[in-house]
Amino acid sequence: MSETVALARAVLSGIVSKGDGEYTHRMSGVSRCARDAVLQAQGHKWSNPPRAEWGDQVTFDMGHSGEARIVRYLEKAGIQVVAQQLSVLASSPMGERITGHIDGILLIPEGMPMGGKRYLMDVKTTSNYGYAMVVKDGEPKRAHKEQLTGYKYSVVDDDDYPLQRGVMVKDLDYPGYEWGGMIVIYHPKERPTRGYGNKKEELDRLAFIHFDADEDVHEASTDLFDLIQHHITNETLPQIPDPADEMVWGGWDKTKKRHIARRCSPRWCRRYDICREIG
Ligand code: SF4
Repeated sequence: MSETVALARAVLSGIVSKGDGEYTHRMSGVSRCARDAVLQAQGHKWSNPPRAEWGDQVTFDMGHSGEARIVRYLEKAGIQVVAQQLSVLASSPMGERITGHIDGILLIPEGMPMGGKRYLMDVKTTSNYGYAMVVKDGEPKRAHKEQLTGYKYSVVDDDDYPLQRGVMVKDLDYPGYEWGGMIVIYHPKERPTRGYGNKKEELDRLAFIHFDADEDVHEASTDLFDLIQHHITNETLPQIPDPADEMVWGGWDKTKKRHIARRCSPRWCRRYDICREIG
């Protein structure tokens, strides 16, 4: 290894994450692998921590600073972003408490596109490839749709908002702004393009994906927490999901001509070795 590579790795090793602490039901985990969550709740530490050179913390921090930047851009355009980082609390179909924080609520003034309405907002920093996919589909990624829908049906649980405590996020009242649904603002890490060679085209630098979803989506996705709690209470472990299951990023591999669970690898699963050892 050259000295310059060693130097870069020395810097990265100072920010590498060592573990994920104690398990609690969090809305940001609505699409995680149930088996991984139960292993965490049962006290299993990471068997496959991230390698320093992957710089996963850098990616996480880019998302965090990207969010602050987008809020600045929105405010500069005259769009208020209220209830930023508001603490909220949801309930699963069986009554499990699920905590979360919303990125904010957009108040888009009359006269602007989609104006006169309020929108529950979340900012997601993506790869160029993921960005091109959501732009093409016009739909948020499933995990993002489930997360935001969970927030929509959460209630305020924040000491800084005593008057709103217990009010459902979708019902938070901002006079002059009726409920307009949810917006995921996708923000690619690089200048976004689509296609190759002379068919390559530039994409807009931000994508606002607007959608709404009803309570049945919230119930269908948060029953994951009931499943996790069932196993925690009974001291059991969910089976390894089928490789086609979206929970483990299952998808058809054209080369291998079979489904593969992309999440089930030491690169993406921090408890891969434990999971396989327990069987
Ligand atoms: S290896 Fe796959 S099934 Fe096992 S805990 Fe990790 S993501 Fe879940």
